[in-house]
Formats: sequence, structure tokens, C-alpha cells
Amino acid sequence: MEARAQNEKLFVGGTKRIQRARIADDGLTGIGRQRERNDHRGMLEAQSARLNAILADLSPAERLARFREEIEGKLVFTTSLGLEDQVILHLLAEQGVDVEVVTLDTGRLFSQTYELWAETERRYGTRIRAFYPQQETLEALIDEHGINGFYDSREARSACCGIRKVEPLNRALAGATGWIVGLRADQSEHRRGAALVAVDERNLLKLSPLFDWTREAVQNFALANQIPVNPLHDQGFVSIGCAPCTRAIAAGEPERAGRWWWEHDDRKECGLHVRR
Ligand code: SF4
Repeated sequence: MEARAQNEKLFVGGTKRIQRARIADDGLTGIGRQRERNDHRGMLEAQSARLNAILADLSPAERLARFREEIEGKLVFTTSLGLEDQVILHLLAEQGVDVEVVTLDTGRLFSQTYELWAETERRYGTRIRAFYPQQETLEALIDEHGINGFYDSREARSACCGIRKVEPLNRALAGATGWIVGLRADQSEHRRGAALVAVDERNLLKLSPLFDWTREAVQNFALANQIPVNPLHDQGFVSIGCAPCTRAIAAGEPERAGRWWWEHDDRKECGLHVRR
């Protein structure tokens, strides 16, 4: 506001001059906004470094509780009902951590996943809030690419993930300050570069409480605590997403090899976990 007042004083008289003043004012505002965004990002980076140091030696349960204590505002836990997410939900429920539990129903999940979803709600006495794709954009996608168009090109696959997953996720995370996810570092080369607490591109602090756990450790914990898990895991489906885009993996294959197996890209991500 101060900049606007100053500019208007300096450029009084003559339409052209006033127009020049407005352009200059907008420029200043734009720079100001960018500076504000950079400051905010810098603050989050500092907060994430501090949290990484605090949480590193804690157990996953303690990490969740401490993260909740440290972060003000809305915390969202997104679950795909996978093994890691089931363990996290168990820990959250056990401690009564104040967090919104949401899932993205793409409409293409395995029937076993829907059954597990219902069983999980019964077991923990909670409702998992579902976010769905926008009807009109989904209809346009199917119209353009066909019902299984994601097999035809990387672009069509990304468009499908964008509409069925990324856009609903953005709505699920709107207004949140923190995000809890089930990533583990040894799931893939790409995920190895992530962190226990990271700053997501949406300017959220993202906690992966099982970041340094092995799959075996997660499996053992689930077994010991009788946590309901997807029966597909016993059939070689390690990382489970949408049915048409997930297959079982053979012994020795990387964990995420069963996702979008027809694409040759180490990252094997759908756009939910983007790093800068
Ligand atoms: Fe579409 Fe497959 Fe992505 Fe699911 S995983 S949103 S079906 S492309």
C-alpha cells in the first residue's frame, strides 16, 4: 500500500503517467510477493531442518506425536491403504493424534483395497475421508484417451494420474500446514533422495515417519500388532495402486517395479510426491 501511495504521488497528472505508475506499482507488488514466497519457503526449510534433527532418533510413533506438537494448523495423513499406511494409521489411532485421514479413490482400485478400506474403518472406528476426481474432467479424459488410454503414452498416463490423483490430492491438502505419508527411503532410488521431513512443493512440511524402516520391519510390526493389510501383498503385489497399473513383482525386482511396468523410468511416481 505504501508503494502504491508513493507511486501515485510521483506520477500525478496525465493518463499515460498514471498508467506508468500502475505498471511500476504492479511490478513492485509482484517482486514483493515473490520475496514473501521466498521468505516463507526459507522459513519452512529451516523448520524442516530443525525437525529432522529432533525426530531422527525417535520411533515412528514418537515422530508422529512430536510432529503434531510442533506443527500448528491442519495435519493431513493420506493413505492408499498400503502396508506402510496401515502401520501409520495404527500408530495415529493408538495415540489419538489429531489429524485428518484421507484417501484418494481413483475409481480404479482393486476390490481387495475397497474391502480393506471398510475393514480398517471398522477396526479403528474411524471414517477415512475420500476424495474423488472431478466428474467433468474425468469424462473429458475418457472421451479423449479411452477407458484404458494410460497404456498408450506417457502423456495419457500422466493426464490420468493428474485427474484421478493429483488434483484430488491438492484439494485434500488445501489449507493444511503438514502432511503425513508412508514413504520409505529404500522403496526406490528416487525415494532414497527424500528426507524424514521435507518441504513439499505445495509449501507443506511432509513427514515420512517410516522413512528409515525396511519393508521387513514394517511387515513384522504389522504382523505383531495384527494390523489389517491388503491380501494382495501375499501374492507378490508390493506397492499397490490402481488395479490396471499394478502387477505383482518377482523375487529380486525393485519394490516399485510393479507400478506402470510398461514405462521405463526409474522414478515410477504419479506426481503426488514431487521434489524440487
Ligand atoms: Fe490412472 Fe493408472 Fe494413474 Fe490410476 S495409476 S490414476 S489408473 S494412470
